[in-house]
Amino acid sequence: MGIKDSLNPAFVTTKLDAVINWSRKFSLFQYPFVTACCGMEFMAVYGAHYDGARFGAEIPRFSPRQADLLFVVGTVNHKMAPVLKRVYEQMAEPKWVVAFGACAASGGFYQNYAVVQGIDRVIPVDVYIAGCPPRPEAVLDGLVELQRLIQDEGPRGMTGINPRQSKEELLLSRD
Ligand code: SF4
Repeated sequence: MGIKDSLNPAFVTTKLDAVINWSRKFSLFQYPFVTACCGMEFMAVYGAHYDGARFGAEIPRFSPRQADLLFVVGTVNHKMAPVLKRVYEQMAEPKWVVAFGACAASGGFYQNYAVVQGIDRVIPVDVYIAGCPPRPEAVLDGLVELQRLIQDEGPRGMTGINPRQSKEELLLSRD
């Protein structure tokens, strides 16, 4: 029996969820899916100057099973899309996704048959960070926005409605 079951949900659950979400947002374990030039800016964010560790999301995990934050950094082509989806599916729940830069968010200036025109065609995305590449300040801003989402909304799917579901997932779930 978990701690939630032993407490009266009528007046405790909301506060307990707030504490759990607070701990989640400051203990993100990231999986960097880095494919292209945005990677340089990603490294800058976690260097000494910008110090992404201040936000509790410093430690990278190169096994998806030990990660709950997927940073998709750079261009994703159609050959890589199944790999990205597999990595996402193997990650621990609850999990979040950040599209880092124009290529991950929309395909960037690669408007051709080889490049996925936005990773939300493959997996759900929580936060999009604009820029080619984004400045480290923009990345930190995106990270803070993600923390706000985690605190206010909790894990995706808790309500049964998933506002951040990918378009393809939404269509498939209706079949
Ligand atoms: S958004 Fe710009 S910097 Fe980032 S991977 Fe694409 S082309 Fe490179």
